[in-house]
Amino acid sequence: MLRIKNLHASIEDKDILKGINLEVNPGEVHAIMGPNGSGKSTLASVIAGREDYEMTQGEIVLEGEDISEMDPDERAHKGVFLSFQYPVEIPGVSVTNFMKTAINETRKAQGKEEMTAKDMLKLIREKSEMLEIDRKFLSRSLNEGFSGGEKKRNEIFQMAMLEPKLSILDETDSGLDIDALRIVANGVNKLRSEDNATIVITHYQRLLDYIVPDYVHVLYNGKIVKSGGKELALELEKRGYDWIKEEAATV
Ligand code: ADP
Ligand code: MG
Ligand code: MG
Repeated sequence: MLRIKNLHASIEDKDILKGINLEVNPGEVHAIMGPNGSGKSTLASVIAGREDYEMTQGEIVLEGEDISEMDPDERAHKGVFLSFQYPVEIPGVSVTNFMKTAINETRKAQGKEEMTAKDMLKLIREKSEMLEIDRKFLSRSLNEGFSGGEKKRNEIFQMAMLEPKLSILDETDSGLDIDALRIVANGVNKLRSEDNATIVITHYQRLLDYIVPDYVHVLYNGKIVKSGGKELALELEKRGYDWIKEEAATV
């Protein structure tokens, strides 16, 4: 699904990512953890192609195709989804109408016909039932006055509707309450399949009580310094990050 090789990236001439290697197969959930400032959000942004970041070396290959020169829209159309992709408030445009437009734009870019109103309705019904999202929520103005939990609900709904191949969820917000965590976790678990893959970025182990990852990677100082199974997250919870920093310093 995704193969990242020797990825280097910088922001305003400051090196942030210093040689990332990562392979994600279909059906897998990978967690990326690490201390603040280690480059987790930068990695997410670089995979999605955000323009503030300059990729200086390496490869990002999605299903055999190098996507590293593509703009963010193109990558999205190829099936890359990054949470907070659409954080804008749009008064007067409902959650549903925004999604209808997004889906048809994606289909157009993929050379497909617009979805009929009937199919769209069916898709919305199916996904909203799956995620237990009520109708009232779907008719609200996009992001306007949304609580933390509602923002998460909207994000997961967008993810469900777009059916991405690779979803990257950057849970930067340490202020996420337990309800919001559950919304994210339930969504990810329900949308998990053999045809897609998920990268969950989190500073805290807590989220991984609900989303059980196949692999855990620790990013520190722009490099993946340790990888393991889900037990690595538990170890980090117990021991913190200092031992990781010490280990990294002796290499
Ligand atoms: P994490 O998500 O792991 O906390 P980030 O990817 O947000 O880490 O940040 C990695 C490093 O890049 C930090 O040192 C941060 O200060 C720096 N950085 C991130 N974004 C910017 C930016 N827009 N301009 C300058 N430096 C940045
Ligand atoms: Mg940070
Ligand atoms: Mg971050």
